Amino acid sequence: MNKKEILEKFSADPKRYYNVNLFKDQGFERRSCKTCNRYFWTLDAEREKCPDHSDDTYSFIGDPPTSKRFDYTQSWKEVESFFIKNNHTSINRYPVVCRWRDDLYFTIASIVDFQRVMGSKVVFEFPANPLVVPQTCLRFKDLENVGVTGRHFSSFCMIGQHSIPDENGYWKDECVNLDFNLLTQQFGIAKKEITFVEDVWEGGGSFGSSLEYFVRGLELGNAVFTEFQGDLSNYKTLDQRIIDMGAGLERFAWITMGTPTAYDCCFGPITQKLIQDAGIDTDSSILVPYFTEIAKNLELYEDLSHVRKNAIKTTGLSDEQINRIITPLEGIYLIIDHIRTLIFAISDGALPSNVGGGYNLRIMLRRIVSTMDRLKLKFDLNEIIDIQIDYLKNTYPELEKTREDVKEIISIETGRYDSSKQRMQKIVSKLDKEPKVEDLITLYESDGVTPEYLKEMKVISEIPSTFYAKLSDLHQSKKQKEQVNLPLEGIPDTELLFYGDDPREFDAKVLKSFENFVILDKTAFYARGGGQEPDQGNIGGQEIMDITKHGNIVVHEIKGDVPKEGDTVSCTVDAKRRDGITKNHTSTHIINTSARSVLGSWVWQHSAFKEEDHARLDITHHSALTNDDVKKIEDAANSIIEKSIPVKIENFDRGTAEQKYGFRIYQGGVVPVKSVRIVSIGDLDIEACGGTHVANTSDIEQIKITKTKRIQDGVVRIEFVSGNSAKEFVKKKQQDSESKEKEEKLKEQEKGKRIEQRQLAKERIPVIAKSLLECKQGTITVDDITMELAASGKANFCYSTSDNYDDVFHIGLGEVLCKADPKLVYCGLFEQGEKIRVIVYSGENISKEKSAGEIVKSISQILGGAGGGSPKFAQGGGINKSKKEDAIKNAKSMIIE
Ligand SMILES: [Zn+2]
Ligand SMILES: [Zn+2]
Repeated sequence: MNKKEILEKFSADPKRYYNVNLFKDQGFERRSCKTCNRYFWTLDAEREKCPDHSDDTYSFIGDPPTSKRFDYTQSWKEVESFFIKNNHTSINRYPVVCRWRDDLYFTIASIVDFQRVMGSKVVFEFPANPLVVPQTCLRFKDLENVGVTGRHFSSFCMIGQHSIPDENGYWKDECVNLDFNLLTQQFGIAKKEITFVEDVWEGGGSFGSSLEYFVRGLELGNAVFTEFQGDLSNYKTLDQRIIDMGAGLERFAWITMGTPTAYDCCFGPITQKLIQDAGIDTDSSILVPYFTEIAKNLELYEDLSHVRKNAIKTTGLSDEQINRIITPLEGIYLIIDHIRTLIFAISDGALPSNVGGGYNLRIMLRRIVSTMDRLKLKFDLNEIIDIQIDYLKNTYPELEKTREDVKEIISIETGRYDSSKQRMQKIVSKLDKEPKVEDLITLYESDGVTPEYLKEMKVISEIPSTFYAKLSDLHQSKKQKEQVNLPLEGIPDTELLFYGDDPREFDAKVLKSFENFVILDKTAFYARGGGQEPDQGNIGGQEIMDITKHGNIVVHEIKGDVPKEGDTVSCTVDAKRRDGITKNHTSTHIINTSARSVLGSWVWQHSAFKEEDHARLDITHHSALTNDDVKKIEDAANSIIEKSIPVKIENFDRGTAEQKYGFRIYQGGVVPVKSVRIVSIGDLDIEACGGTHVANTSDIEQIKITKTKRIQDGVVRIEFVSGNSAKEFVKKKQQDSESKEKEEKLKEQEKGKRIEQRQLAKERIPVIAKSLLECKQGTITVDDITMELAASGKANFCYSTSDNYDDVFHIGLGEVLCKADPKLVYCGLFEQGEKIRVIVYSGENISKEKSAGEIVKSISQILGGAGGGSPKFAQGGGINKSKKEDAIKNAKSMIIE
């Protein structure tokens, strides 16, 4: 069955599903709409049509049906005091970042606060019964409508009225009674104005009949009587029926204020301020009819631009009036709405990014900036944030704490957008045709080009109405993990010794063994989980390869033969490994809280990995860490170690833990069990965690951050070591820096020596040259340099193989000698490191016949290398140090023999 068929089924039996006591007591009549046949309940004898089709639809704009006027803040005070008066507990809103559900990034309805997913089942956990909550909800599907329709928001306050029908709570009759009294007694709306429409609501694996209540066409709330579980064609009655009444606080304010749009009465003083700053003339004789038309037409057309065009036509507004009044007003509404959503999301720890839920936040910020650019509005975003928080904190005092954090994140993100515009311009200039929705999504996803920007650049005329819905679908839910199927039916839960005495040696009974897998009745081996790597050790003498947890059963994978079922085996845990992992694990808690205190409230654990000798913690943060950040985090972490803080472990009922400590406990993600293990390090860090921890922070001894890296947009990786590994790391670093220092010193010394030699060469070359040139026949040797004159008198040869001379010396001496004696060939051989180098000069008169280049080539070959140059100067060398003398002999034969 689909929703329509279920509704028909329920409406065919109104006594069972819809006829509440209130209708009998007050004399409500049940009618079928003359236009659409929907059933509704009314006290108005004249009313023939459902609220969607009545003539009085949206007639409250400019003419509210109440004598009292309540804005957003006051409306909540009225609602809250009414429900408290009627025995409800008023509870604080839950975070808008839905940390307790794997399938949602953001809280989308008040009932989500109390839903916990256990396996494939959704269960309800209420902190009080009955209760009322002002739950901020984020919804990004209708982004295109925000600012334009007068009633769509990217975030709104859902008044959640929830009850379990037990000895404290109530069911349908009482629920509808309360809602009727809230409207009539507390808000002063005439009974005749209220229409209840029969409907069905489904979601989160359950559904039920519902009564939507309307006043002048505006749906104020929907009381859902959740009583079935399953889908519409296959369902059974829930064990626990639930009253899920959700009403829009913004609409309660709007109906009493009768302003042209809900935006005019729900954001506090900021709206008027921006309208004034922008110099817009808000003439209500234009705005009231225009926005009434918009509201009425919204259901009639699919495309928002048609709704707008039709409203302009019907009200007869000129282009000039649209451009001067309506368009800038829409922009201002959008900016205020989006900033309000960002305030909530950032305060609750979300960051704008390219991935996951952060994506929606980034696109909102870009819409804010492009809207300001397009309309040439120059607003100070910090001022808007301040004025909004000043107003919102009447209802949500917690926002005060994160005021500066919100400003910081928004300013960083705005700066990034500004600097990316040039790049976007380039991409846009390359587009050769108008992009389709799919192209727009790719342009945004891979290049960060928003459709708003394309509209601003006149590449597209309108943003397709499906764009945000499609994009939001892409980023709505996280991927679920795959589970391996093992034959584990009928096996009882494994007793986990590491939560008790945590022995390193123990005996256990084999409950089941198959392939390489062993299941014991109890185990002290920690299974892979929560980023903590599994223990090692052995079972019955066989080495353990891996340990995994399936539900509450621990499965050990071993190397050799598995023991027989029913046997008792002795087991040994690798104590050193466990000790290292445990220290690293507790260190992730310490680094996490240290990073948050140093960087800001937006820091959450993104993921973690803990091995014996190294670990890493990925945190949410907007930029790469500076050296200064790293030092501060490390210092903060080590000061927690020095303070010797006991690490306390307690078990709580999940609801109690959430109420007591808040949702910060879910650093490692959702905990799918009813009882949570809370690990607290004083009041610095309190997390729900199933890993192994040291008893006192001093046990860790030391934490050392080894490396940090920005691994994705909005996520920074911190690699670290702790305990012995940290000490070793520090020691090694010290040694490294010492040996580096030594090396540097040595280099410095060598450099000094060279300079000295050069100085010496400079002084000695003329002296040596003079002595050598004094040789008139035969051979002389001066300071290991030999001059040999050919008997023929045609050529002279001067050479040295001494390692006391370097290249500078040979080049200097060779040049001087050949200038003085143009028929001289000079040849210098010397060792440099692993090699022998050779430098040859050939004088002016002899270089044609005895080319320096040829001589070097020949010598280098003998030395096992290569070389070359011009006839007058050449260099080369080789590696065969033993061939030095052969090389000189060869040179000599080429020159003077
Ligand atoms: Zn109708
Ligand atoms: Zn832990």
